[in-house]
Amino acid sequence: DKTHNILNAQEIDRILTRMAYSIIEIHKGTEKLALIGIQTRGVHIAKRIQTKIMGIEGVEIPTGHMDITLYRDDWTQIGHHPIVQATNIPFSVEGKNIVLVDDVLFTGRTIRAAMDALIDFGRPDRIELAVLVDRGHRELPIQADYAGKFVETRHSETVNVMLKECDNLDQVTIKQE
Ligand code: 5GP
Ligand code: MG
Repeated sequence: DKTHNILNAQEIDRILTRMAYSIIEIHKGTEKLALIGIQTRGVHIAKRIQTKIMGIEGVEIPTGHMDITLYRDDWTQIGHHPIVQATNIPFSVEGKNIVLVDDVLFTGRTIRAAMDALIDFGRPDRIELAVLVDRGHRELPIQADYAGKFVETRHSETVNVMLKECDNLDQVTIKQE
């Protein structure tokens, strides 16, 4: 199988810097802002954005996470069914502007499940989405408000997101099975 690089460490860092600035620009600061990372890598990305916003604005944005597993854990399966396994949201969502953060946006089903679970916690003013990679192939009317890189993929390809926190390096590759 063939693998090629689409983002290196410096490019990933610049994307997350841009996202941090975009989020505070759109929201005119940090009031009411909160972040929720999805699963493993979305959680690390959310923490990095939180750290960058702390560096820019000197404010610690409330940050939580959700563990969502795809049924059979097969991204290439059409109509896969994500299940929210656990949530850790240590702040009130009431009236907040919440940015969901994930590594890859594909069919949109994971984000739909995340929104369903989030709404059970209360009534945020607004829910937005930030993703490092948008690989297309949406099956629901869901788009990212902050997208690092759009990568036109085949359905059969997979995007491999590696982050220092769990993979010892920052790199994004694409793999044709
Ligand atoms: P969706 O639910 O939008 O189909 O898929 C998004 C979720 O599955 C994200 O949590 C993401 O981590 C994972 N995912 C989907 N496609 C890929 C992919 O190509 N590579 C990686 N690393 N994760 C993917
Ligand atoms: Mg995931």
